[in-house]
Amino acid sequence: MAMKKISWVLPIFNEQENLPRLYSALQTLREHLKERYLVEFIFVDDGSKDNSLEQLTKLYEKDPDVNVLSFSRNFGHQIAITAGLDAATGDAIIFMDADLQDPPEVCYDLITAWEQGSDVAYAKRRKRKDSFLKKLTAYIFYRVLRKFAEIDIPADTGDFRLITRQVADTLKTFPEKHRFMRGLVSYIGFKQTPVLFDRNERKAGKSGYSIKKMFRLAEDAFTGFSLAPIMIVGVLGTLLALIGLAGTVLGLFLPSELLIIISFMTALSGVIMVSLATIGQYIGRTYQQVQDRPLYILQKKLLHSP
Ligand code: UDP
Ligand code: MG
Repeated sequence: MAMKKISWVLPIFNEQENLPRLYSALQTLREHLKERYLVEFIFVDDGSKDNSLEQLTKLYEKDPDVNVLSFSRNFGHQIAITAGLDAATGDAIIFMDADLQDPPEVCYDLITAWEQGSDVAYAKRRKRKDSFLKKLTAYIFYRVLRKFAEIDIPADTGDFRLITRQVADTLKTFPEKHRFMRGLVSYIGFKQTPVLFDRNERKAGKSGYSIKKMFRLAEDAFTGFSLAPIMIVGVLGTLLALIGLAGTVLGLFLPSELLIIISFMTALSGVIMVSLATIGQYIGRTYQQVQDRPLYILQKKLLHSP
């Protein structure tokens, strides 16, 4: 049987200080796996402004397992890994950060989970070494997202994961522009297994995820996987309308003009919110239709006739 191949997809945004260390870690992985697997490394330069691309070009020239894609500008991490996925030819694909925050040794565990039958092995953080702000925002983000998302998106899990060819090919059929990849992989289903790890500090350089990019990611996560915000507006509006109505009636009885005015305004705001939420439901459904996700995903097809 032909040897199976594993593709590493490595998004690169200004990682000149990390590239030598990253490449040597990848060489170690290749060395350890060479009896069992072929490998390919797909670096996606996401519009780096430092000399990352020069370094990558040199690696490409001397190493036949190295492949490089380079964007015309910074398109963002999620788009970078999407491009890497499009180019990957392996039987399994591993997404891994370039700053060594995702410890390369964890790949062995991801591969073991795959060998034992998992279609998705996702690295779940037990501990993380990051700034207080990053830890706090991430903690809240994952928990609120889990409450509201229509699908089960695991907490404390980034994009560091292994997916099989079948999952990769399915992922490639999702045409949506605002991509929250972890959400999409969860959406796809199949056998998904967590692999626990402790997240390292960034080895060198600084995070390419500005506050603005973090907010955009959170926005994509919520809007991509939940219509709950619209529903919350509807529920709040209904409550306000009821309270306002009760207050108005009470104001008529007391009688208190002030109470009537305040209550009436409250009820009116409630009615406006409910109306907005109703319109929102239609827009939300239109949005889901436009996302154009597949209606269902088959794992296997056992048919007698073709
Ligand atoms: N990255 C990217 N494009 C960006 C920002 C980041 O390709 O616009 C890459 C970055 O080089 C790294 C990975 O995505 O390999 C994770 O980014 P980073 O370490 O900056 O984020 P953090 O770990 O701070 O969340
Ligand atoms: Mg990082």
